[in-house]
Amino acid sequence: MSETSDRSSLPPAAPEPFPAAGNISDEEREELRRHGILLTSLEELYNWGRTNSIWPLQFGLACCAIEMIATATARFDIARFGAEIFRPSPRQADLMIVSGTVTKKMAPQVVRLFNQMPEPKYCIAMGACAISGGPFKQGYNVLKGIDRYIPVDIYIPGCPPRPEALLNGLIQLQEKIKTERLKGPATARHLKPDAPSEYPIPEYDAHDLKPPKNPAVWTQNPLPRDQ
Ligand code: SF4
Repeated sequence: MSETSDRSSLPPAAPEPFPAAGNISDEEREELRRHGILLTSLEELYNWGRTNSIWPLQFGLACCAIEMIATATARFDIARFGAEIFRPSPRQADLMIVSGTVTKKMAPQVVRLFNQMPEPKYCIAMGACAISGGPFKQGYNVLKGIDRYIPVDIYIPGCPPRPEALLNGLIQLQEKIKTERLKGPATARHLKPDAPSEYPIPEYDAHDLKPPKNPAVWTQNPLPRDQ
């Protein structure tokens, strides 16, 4: 008698065991999702909710603010990303979009507003002026980057960046929020007990801001010629 047999005569293969919980790859999770099984964690749910519900502070400083306003209009529709609720009070906002030239007279107010925002909070520097002073970098009255006083999460270059660039920056911020951890070495900044929530407000002196920067926040990247 022949030893050969077709597939239909074979006994059904034993189902693959489920991977151990907590040690599952993205591919395995996607495979489970295709079978109608959704795996998640409290951390993912927490980050998912925060990612899709960002409330920007409603203020602008110069021409870049016009592009930020355009981002909230129907054509660009920032509401698609859950960030359409611009709040007039820092107490109700968790995202500061620094859009425009930060003069040295305005810098203390910007830092004060950031301090008044509750944690977790984030900052986007929109445009060349907010990043470095932009075309007014050599001006005696212009701050050479808001990151001298408050931590910036996302930088969006341009003069001005278009609304699409701001949306891209918002997506980058969402990706960052998704990776924040509730515990462990990669714990989110706002959950670390020793991390500051408020930052020293500079004073506008007779000629300049004092101090000129907060060394705990601002670190100058080395120039290629110095490396
Ligand atoms: S980066 Fe350009 S467009 Fe934006 S505030 Fe400065 S000068 Fe205006």
